[in-house]
Amino acid sequence: MVVQTERDDTTWYECETCGLLFDEKSAATDHEQMCNDSDPSYIQ
Ligand SMILES: [Zn+2]
Repeated sequence: MVVQTERDDTTWYECETCGLLFDEKSAATDHEQMCNDSDPSYIQ
């Protein structure tokens, strides 16, 4: 799941699976799909 957060007046999109931050929602969504395809044991 991608979560929208705001820091320093900038909107970031965070991959909840691994915590990576992206400045574009499309990049976060693309990453998240790859992230979800990886080993589920990685998800806490
Ligand atoms: Zn991720």
